[in-house]
Amino acid sequence: MTRLLIIGPPGSGKGTQAVHIARHFSIPTVSTGDIFRTNVSNETPLGVEAARYLDDGALVPDELTNALVKDRLLESDLQPGFLLDGYPRTATQVTELDNMLASQSQRLDAVVELRAPDSELEQRMLQRAKEQGRKDDTIEVFRRRLDLYHNETHEVVAVYAGRGMLVSVDGSGDPGDITTRAIAAVEKFLAEGVTP
Ligand code: AMP
Repeated sequence: MTRLLIIGPPGSGKGTQAVHIARHFSIPTVSTGDIFRTNVSNETPLGVEAARYLDDGALVPDELTNALVKDRLLESDLQPGFLLDGYPRTATQVTELDNMLASQSQRLDAVVELRAPDSELEQRMLQRAKEQGRKDDTIEVFRRRLDLYHNETHEVVAVYAGRGMLVSVDGSGDPGDITTRAIAAVEKFLAEGVTP
């Protein structure tokens, strides 16, 4: 029963690492970004509402995001554990998540933070733009998302660091090496309570 969170700036390969880490721990991934993108492409009411925020590189309002995660966390496939990717991103969302988990007598076991220099993140984003053609992968939107990460999401990292559950991982270089480092660091933390 493992409940994890992964946090990382845009371009850090967070989504890719989430998939590998979740597979290792045999838990499903819940990516708020993926859920929003699916709703946008299916033109659901949520997608229509969320699209402009995604396109601008802004955060989708808390009411929408929190309600979506709350419903998802109640589903039966997540009862044995999960890896949350992209949520919480603000201090308010941390409180919301605390409440959601507490109401189900659950708690997080560890929070993985991917760290990489801004210059490398920008290079990776440009590469992803070529490969996947994501609408928010333009230099302008990328810089806005990175600013948002530094200005808002660092609070989230600070909260979990303060709780002694932050596992920071060097997110530079080869994606396979990053996966190996991340899994080893989480395993060590879960077994010994030691953060790298
Ligand atoms: P991601 O794939 O995690 O980079 O998320 C892509 C986009 O989805 C973000 O730029 C936001 O517009 C939106 N999004 C994802 N997660 C959240 C969240 N926790 N709160 C608000 N907006 C979010």
